[in-house]
Amino acid sequence: MKSVMKNNAPSVMEGAVMEHHPYGPSKWPPLLECGCFESRGPSEATERGTRLHELFAAVMRGDQHDEPADMLERNVVRVAETIRRTYEPTLGRFYVEELVELPGPGGMSDDTGIWGRLDLAWIDVDTLDLHVADLKSAENPERNHLPQLLAYAAGMVRHLHLEGPRNVVLHMIYADSSKMTTTTLDIGDASTEYLADYLRIAEIGRGKACEPRQCGWCDLCARFTSCPAMQAVAEKASPRLADAAKPERWADFTSEQKARLCALADTLSRWCEAVRDYASEDAKAGECIADPANAIYFGLQERKGRLLIKDVRQTWEVVKPYLTAEGYRRCLSVSQVEIRDALRRTGMKASDVTAMLERCGTRLPPTTVFVRKSAEPDVA
Ligand code: SF4
Repeated sequence: MKSVMKNNAPSVMEGAVMEHHPYGPSKWPPLLECGCFESRGPSEATERGTRLHELFAAVMRGDQHDEPADMLERNVVRVAETIRRTYEPTLGRFYVEELVELPGPGGMSDDTGIWGRLDLAWIDVDTLDLHVADLKSAENPERNHLPQLLAYAAGMVRHLHLEGPRNVVLHMIYADSSKMTTTTLDIGDASTEYLADYLRIAEIGRGKACEPRQCGWCDLCARFTSCPAMQAVAEKASPRLADAAKPERWADFTSEQKARLCALADTLSRWCEAVRDYASEDAKAGECIADPANAIYFGLQERKGRLLIKDVRQTWEVVKPYLTAEGYRRCLSVSQVEIRDALRRTGMKASDVTAMLERCGTRLPPTTVFVRKSAEPDVA
């Protein structure tokens, strides 16, 4: 392993306070897709993520914490409370923000120097399975976080000198939806997969020349704007997309060409979105985003906040001289998400909550959306 890995890694035994290891588990998912990936510096989004993690850790530890300020924070508190209620760890112990060192191919005794701080882990009191959980602000189907969780699991096996749990249970928690996904792997399969990932990361750490490979992490990459892979995609895509966007030309493309054009369009929209984000951050920092010679000007503009009407009874008092009761009733809608959350907090099972909500409303007909799929779809 390259010495930089070792030199940058503070000893776990010293209990040092540190930021992140350059090849720590949180970097594994993007690095395994593109070995040239480089994290961007702190941003509003990373600060937001830190705040959510602090809240999550406080609830898991049973510490005092601030009132959740918005929906994401409420979701985080709710999921953490659900985990505390649902799972009983051995010795009543949840491992929160535990610092772990990762084992190399030599197993427990191999000191690689890669370390990371996991969000949450515990050992199930009945099955002795090792559970590891990680919190993310939002779900992105193009990003596979399992390598990160597997690395934490390997670190916990080493950290606790576990003889070997039968299974590792990997949980991803998404603050935007309060969804928790779970993947259970037999310890043998988990170890094989972890080791393959570890060897690839070790190769990257040794500084083996990397080939940029466009992937779902590009918009989080510090090299995004200068990356040759991204520029190649953009250059290739622009003229073809411009051509394909003409209705009279669209019919000339084969299905395979249409599929490739859709993939390029997805890439470009991510690219465009990131460019707008960067520019908006610069504008917020006071930079004037303008090219006067070409009369191109961008700037910030305040939009009126969304009006939230919470008190249905008080609103009725105001509008009843003008509306019939039936007319007013048609204007009302109930937040399904909030009702679902309130019912879940009473201890109701998720399936009972869903069944109850289905009885309360009318389900609209399904809509059809065009999305990218991971395998060939069934054609009717
Ligand atoms: S922007 Fe380039 S270097 Fe960064 S992850 Fe994408 S392909 Fe890799």
